Amino acid sequence: MSARLRSGVLELLVPEWMPTTERQKWADEMRQRLDRRLQRSHPSDDRLAERARSLNERLFGGRLNWTSVAFAEMSHLWGSCTFTTGAIRIARRAASLPEWVLDYLLVHELSHLEHSDHGTAFRELESRYPLSERARGYLMALADR
Ligand SMILES: [Zn+2]
Repeated sequence: MSARLRSGVLELLVPEWMPTTERQKWADEMRQRLDRRLQRSHPSDDRLAERARSLNERLFGGRLNWTSVAFAEMSHLWGSCTFTTGAIRIARRAASLPEWVLDYLLVHELSHLEHSDHGTAFRELESRYPLSERARGYLMALADR
């Protein structure tokens, strides 16, 4: 059996006798291997990784786990967290924000590792960062400009 990626499409070559359920199992397996390889080739941004690590220690007792944290081009959002893969992205334009606002964005996305919505449990996690309220105000004021 062999697998290759062509223009983002995963192609699997399997023996003809292989049952469909087996094929599906292999497709899932190869997809996961490929994702891991992609993660290694997109390393975390050092500055964000360091801040996220320290926030995790200070606010969450080091219990949160993520796969990568990096800046990315985003025009409408300040950040994103892919719940299923644990990949955290912060908008590149946030790099020039004051450090305490950048930390808030990280805390927000880190909190999404445990809660995908913005419910009460999520807010409790997010508010462990003492400047959350002020940072939200800061970002709101930016948006109004
Ligand atoms: Zn959110």
